[in-house]
Amino acid sequence: MLNFLINNQNYIEFIFLIAGALISGILFYVSIISILEKEIRAFRVSFILSLITIIPFLVIYLSDFPFKIGVISVIISLIFITIIILFFPYQPKLKEGFQVPRDKHDERDIMFSRNELKPETEKYDSYYLNNPQKKELDDKFREKPGLLSSDSSMYHPYSYASAHANLEVIEALKPAVNGSVSENKTEVDPFKISSYVKTWCKKLGAHSVGITELKDYHLYSHKGRRELYGKVIENKHKYAIAITIEMNNEMIQTAPKGPVVMESTQQYLNSGTIALQIAYFIRGLGYEARAHIDGNYEVICPLIARDAGLGEIGRMGLLMTPELGPRVRIAAVTTNIPLKMDMFKEYSSSIDFCTICKKCADVCPSRSIPFEKREEINGVLRWQINSESCFTYWCTSGTDCGKCMAVCPYSHPDNFMHNFIRWGIKNSYIFRRFALYMDDLFYGRRPKSRNLPNWIDL
Ligand code: SF4
Ligand code: SF4
Repeated sequence: MLNFLINNQNYIEFIFLIAGALISGILFYVSIISILEKEIRAFRVSFILSLITIIPFLVIYLSDFPFKIGVISVIISLIFITIIILFFPYQPKLKEGFQVPRDKHDERDIMFSRNELKPETEKYDSYYLNNPQKKELDDKFREKPGLLSSDSSMYHPYSYASAHANLEVIEALKPAVNGSVSENKTEVDPFKISSYVKTWCKKLGAHSVGITELKDYHLYSHKGRRELYGKVIENKHKYAIAITIEMNNEMIQTAPKGPVVMESTQQYLNSGTIALQIAYFIRGLGYEARAHIDGNYEVICPLIARDAGLGEIGRMGLLMTPELGPRVRIAAVTTNIPLKMDMFKEYSSSIDFCTICKKCADVCPSRSIPFEKREEINGVLRWQINSESCFTYWCTSGTDCGKCMAVCPYSHPDNFMHNFIRWGIKNSYIFRRFALYMDDLFYGRRPKSRNLPNWIDL
């Protein structure tokens, strides 16, 4: 062994120098991507590290000292061992397996429905008669200026007006979720029509699309919004299609400022439009279909998306997709057209990462996200956010906040660098811990909100 090292000393020293240049080059590449993403802290850290890391390699390569070849061999071996340990594909499975909620949720309990209750009305009196424990909590958000209010702390005239405009368009689309079914039924092949629908959705701008069997627990028990308030939901469709759409990272990074609500309403609109197009298309083929869009749902979209294999529900209570984390909006279509279902996928890596990460809980301005482990709620192990305190913050800021979504390590843009890190997070128990440490180092444990883009901040 010693003879081999001595005989090949020049080659080994050269490999050593190349290893140093590679590490430094990778960090330099990270700095370029970071500056393009306007991540100033990540740029500074990676640029400085790219300069520092090459120095010890150069010094050792250029100097002459006893046992030099031994020292170089040990360093090269340590680098290889570290890479093997980091990427070792160890993936503990979740003990609990596939879990489903025991009881249906009532849409009247969600914060948007409670926000629509007006004092001295029958609905208001009846709701708090049945739920007296919620009255005091809800009075707190009623004291605040309210969503998109000009008195709210994040008020910005243009972005708020844009969000209002988006909501008006969604409002105009709501009656179109249902419609008449063509009398001319077209026979379809489940495999081909499923593939067609998915491809078309993606061409229309969807990030991911999945199909699952519609189950009872996907449905709300009662409608909670507007004129249909209190109506028992009966949906006999056999299938549900979940459609996710990306939210723009630059807009989300301003959270909780105005652009975040502008972007979330925009993507509610975009995902809703795709769902409407698919529902119209299916009804045109002679099968029942209903779109489920913002403010007019019969289903709980994140649960459908989870069962259709599009992601897992994370610590902040949102769907975590493998590629964009929570930085998506979801719409759904329920239907009777024969479809090929997708398999539920277990994302145990997301659960493990959320268990150690807690970054969203650290930054939440209303402390609504739990730091503890998951607990059993309605028959399912999950994290439960405090919806009341979260919504009270929304009514103070005037936006839908989104700070948790902005800082989530899964939310980084969809490019080679971040996808490689997400791949490592998915496949390696050790890499997840390393990635979390690096995320804190490069982006900070509590990243600051970005300024408004120039075109908005006129
Ligand atoms: S910030 Fe961390 S803990 Fe929160 S949802 Fe994202 S990965 Fe999970
Ligand atoms: S949206 Fe804001 S207030 Fe609500 S849980 Fe996320 S960080 Fe907290």
